[in-house]
Amino acid sequence: MLIVFIGPPGSGKGTQAKRLIAHLSIPHLSTGEILREAKASGSSLGQLAAQYMDEGRLVPDPLVLAMVGEKLREPKFADGCLFDGFPRTLQQARALDESLAERGTPLDMALELKADDNELVARMLRRASAEGRADDNPQTISHRMEVFRQQTAPLLDYYRFQGVLTPVDAMGTPDEVFERIKTAIDKRRRPKA
Ligand code: ADP
Repeated sequence: MLIVFIGPPGSGKGTQAKRLIAHLSIPHLSTGEILREAKASGSSLGQLAAQYMDEGRLVPDPLVLAMVGEKLREPKFADGCLFDGFPRTLQQARALDESLAERGTPLDMALELKADDNELVARMLRRASAEGRADDNPQTISHRMEVFRQQTAPLLDYYRFQGVLTPVDAMGTPDEVFERIKTAIDKRRRPKA
């Protein structure tokens, strides 16, 4: 299965992605993780990416697309993948569609995690004190929310139009949300089986 996972910052995407890849036995491609690793490695591309990430801005499309393109060539991504935090712009979504079309493996679904803004901010502030992620501070958080609204939310229409958008309520405990995700996936899979 090829799944795109979309959710505003704080929606629990990372937590649910971990469970989902174990449940479906598919590999995980998280651009946030790839970029954080690049930053930690101190490479020049990593340093460049960090300038954007630390301010809660999106890393420019060409840089992200180059990194994802390289990853996608790894054989483990041939049959299935959970894209997490990617695509985040329409340009990224179109580029992904093109590379998947070339491989003859179209997207199966775009899973959307939905939660209200107050809950999202509260979760990120809790995570800031628990994990100390560099971009979980009040100013960066509000910027990331705005970036989501402006640049990533349009993807929801894009995937709705393709008939692959599957919204899931992300309010509640991680267990409750994961149950909803599994139910949504089963519903999608059944007609094809
Ligand atoms: P979150 O979903 O909590 O914002 P991520 O780990 O997905 O966290 O992303 C962290 C940061 O990495 C983003 O704020 C952005 O700067 C950068 N980033 C991640 N994925 C992308 C992407 N697909 N395009 C551009 N920038 C990205």
